[in-house]
Amino acid sequence: MTVTRFAPSPTGYIHVGNLRTALFNFLIARKAGGTFILRLDDTDPERSKEEYVDAIKDDLEWLGLTWDRVERQSQRLDRYAAAADALRDKGRFYEAFETPTELDLKRKKQLNMGKPPVYDRAALALSEDERAALRGERGQGVWRFKLDHERIEWTDGILGPISIDAASVSDPVLIRQDGQVLYTLASVVDDTEMGVTHVVRGSDHVTNTATQIQIIQALGGDVPSFAHHSLLTGPQGEALSKRLGTLSLRDLRAQGVQPMALLSLMARLGSADPVEVRGSVDELVEGFDIARFGSAPTKFDERDLFPLTARVLQGTPFEAVKDEIAALGVPDAVAPRFWEVVRDNITVKAEMAGWWDVLRGAITPQVADEDRDFVAEAFAMLPEPPYDAGTWSAWTNAVKDKTGRKGKGLFLPLRHAITGQSRGPEMADVMALMQVKPSL
Ligand code: GLU
Repeated sequence: MTVTRFAPSPTGYIHVGNLRTALFNFLIARKAGGTFILRLDDTDPERSKEEYVDAIKDDLEWLGLTWDRVERQSQRLDRYAAAADALRDKGRFYEAFETPTELDLKRKKQLNMGKPPVYDRAALALSEDERAALRGERGQGVWRFKLDHERIEWTDGILGPISIDAASVSDPVLIRQDGQVLYTLASVVDDTEMGVTHVVRGSDHVTNTATQIQIIQALGGDVPSFAHHSLLTGPQGEALSKRLGTLSLRDLRAQGVQPMALLSLMARLGSADPVEVRGSVDELVEGFDIARFGSAPTKFDERDLFPLTARVLQGTPFEAVKDEIAALGVPDAVAPRFWEVVRDNITVKAEMAGWWDVLRGAITPQVADEDRDFVAEAFAMLPEPPYDAGTWSAWTNAVKDKTGRKGKGLFLPLRHAITGQSRGPEMADVMALMQVKPSL
């Protein structure tokens, strides 16, 4: 049974970076007919907010990434305490008392000597009395996991064979001085107890994975398959981390990006396969293979989302937008045809309103001074609506005969005057939908 999880910390909104993680885990579970867990990594009570929990769920729902169940780390603290006890019993857990300043100093010294800044395990050498004395002086220490100094190896689903020398990694702190259990331990306990079989996350977690593999083994759990996807960069290869705040799913949604545009891009970006606009989340499952993704940083340009959004809209049936069109005030009788004509001429849904304004005569006509008399003359020849598919050609033929204008000189000023723009749907289609007679 395949079990995956998406494990955001509810300390902010989901952005395009974590969307990749969510989507890959979701697709792996769905493709295998397995379980996809939404796990909220909310062990940090100061930074975790209910508002973000709601927002994360809301964003995933907007995308259609449905989860099979929700788990919250804040409700599993007893499990983490039990795991900490187990590690203590196995001699894999030790208390350390260095202050952050002391640790910093140690690191600087190591770096100066050209050595990797790895925790020197000074705390391991403390006697029981020394520990008691330090505890009296400084209060509780932090708890570190004692790594076995051997090579940690796994075959990564994206990066291939990985081998990390445990001696090059600091013994990870799993419990803070204030007793708060840290992600590294909580995640391992959850993955093990929830039977997680596949973990996909960003390549910034590779070192975590190395230490977590040893913790899982120390606790007697099964090591899941790991895959680390590359991190997104901006279009020029620049780090995206600072901009991720503005690349939240909320912002993209507010800008009119369609969920399937975002998902279609993310399901392929950084892989060997071309981006194809898919109509539904189920279609994304087909052809998804984590092994097709590369390890190189992946360039992301949010501007790519807009042509994709336009294509999604072109393929969107009337039924799906019916309510939004009705909300604009478009009468039921014209609404289906309105959508057919307009969907090929918008990038985001919000632009529908502009076309409805055209059709109900609520725009300011754009007429160049030299065309004013011509347009006035032409409008005078136009009957009152209703119009139909033949209105435009009958009318412009008559105008052509009367004024002698033809081609662009005939059509463009009329298009401008009626729609306020030089581009848009076929004028025959626009005319057939006009609710009022155009006027100057
Ligand atoms: N809460 C962690 C994060 O957002 C989860 C990482 C993981 O998938 O293990 O980075």
